[in-house]
Amino acid sequence: MTHVFHRNPRGKLPVAVAGEGMVLIDHEGKRYIDASGGAAVSCLGHGHPRVVEAIRKQVGQLAYAHTSFFTTEPAEELAAMLAAAAPGSLNHVYFLSGGSEAVEAALKLARQYHVESGQPQRQYFIARRQSYHGNTLGALAIGGNAWRREMFMPLLIEAHHVSPCYAYRERKDGESDAQYVQRLADELEHKILSLGADKVAAFIAETVVGATAGAVPPVADYFRKMRAVCDKYGVLLILDEVMSGMGRTGYLFACEEDGVQPDIVAIAKGLGAGYQPIGAMICSDRIYEAIVQGSGFFQHGHTYIGHATACAAAIAVQNAIREDQLLDNVRQRGEQLRAALRESFSEQAHVGDIRGRGLFVGVELVADRASKAPLDPSLRTHARVKAEAMKRGLLVYPMGGTIDGRRGDHILLAPPFIATRQDIDDIVGRLAEAVAAAV
Ligand code: PLP
Repeated sequence: MTHVFHRNPRGKLPVAVAGEGMVLIDHEGKRYIDASGGAAVSCLGHGHPRVVEAIRKQVGQLAYAHTSFFTTEPAEELAAMLAAAAPGSLNHVYFLSGGSEAVEAALKLARQYHVESGQPQRQYFIARRQSYHGNTLGALAIGGNAWRREMFMPLLIEAHHVSPCYAYRERKDGESDAQYVQRLADELEHKILSLGADKVAAFIAETVVGATAGAVPPVADYFRKMRAVCDKYGVLLILDEVMSGMGRTGYLFACEEDGVQPDIVAIAKGLGAGYQPIGAMICSDRIYEAIVQGSGFFQHGHTYIGHATACAAAIAVQNAIREDQLLDNVRQRGEQLRAALRESFSEQAHVGDIRGRGLFVGVELVADRASKAPLDPSLRTHARVKAEAMKRGLLVYPMGGTIDGRRGDHILLAPPFIATRQDIDDIVGRLAEAVAAAV
């Protein structure tokens, strides 16, 4: 009998007892290459000496001080680092303890911004059908992940959805990137108009879609066009970079590659790299000033926001990324990973698409490459891939099923930024064996 209420109480999990670089080790001494960093979290791998030392030092000096009494040096330093690195006028960093909290805070800030700017009628959020923004009630309400929402529907705020940017499945035959993007921008515009041009608070999207579809990047110019539609109607753009941000795509902020600045960006996961639970919401000068000049108080807060030890860990993570030039490695190893997967799976009829940015890579599994028909969800192929990979000492993050009848199972890969050329070859070799055994 276990007293931990596991998310899958009937399952039996190995006990993780140690981590060393790319590897996690269980209670029987079995070693696993961590090719997904959990769920795209452990971006520096495990046991990173400089991060461990920074935490040790901070805990000894000051573990925590409540933010209604004090600010702390680590919180101020980390906020300055993030603001300096974030695009354009994203200069104001509100710390949280994880991704769902960051999204919740972003939704509330968007709403409060409109209320304080004299537009209290702006109450609707538009998200995309293929999205995951977190599991707390607000984040769950706006997410497109129907099966996660279903049971809680009576408790959720009203949210509205438009199509994702998912070229592999949803671009029409003969449609160019530009035409596809225009179609999606028109759809957003129609949705805004149907809700009322002055009723929408914000449009929220993952810059690169993570868990629901497996590292789906937008096509060129998608976010610039969506930004233009938002601007036309005074709708804020919130980008959720909880999974794709903090270097995962080879850029500290994934949206740098898309040439857009959101009004608010949510980050988490890689920010603390798993060494401490920490997330953040970063907003633009315009939003911040509206609050400062308005009520002067952001109507939100949690006990652990701006946690000094979590901030110290995140500073050490940022320093390691810079000092060791890990963003270059992410870009190079990402190219290598996609090329190696394409070669390795060239004959595998059940691999339909390989995509992603940096070390954020998705492999979509299908029943048949030509028709792109999804695998039968009752086969739970994703779960079998995970199990076969674990047997072979490999951790990947597969997700399943056809929530909306249009998608296949997929495998998400998000190895640590420290991965070497040899690590990538090793990951691809073991994954090829696991997929062959599972499909
Ligand atoms: N947003 C995105 C894009 C995510 O991928 C996740 C988690 O996977 C979340 C939000 C929620 O983050 P957390 O699990 O830290 O609450």
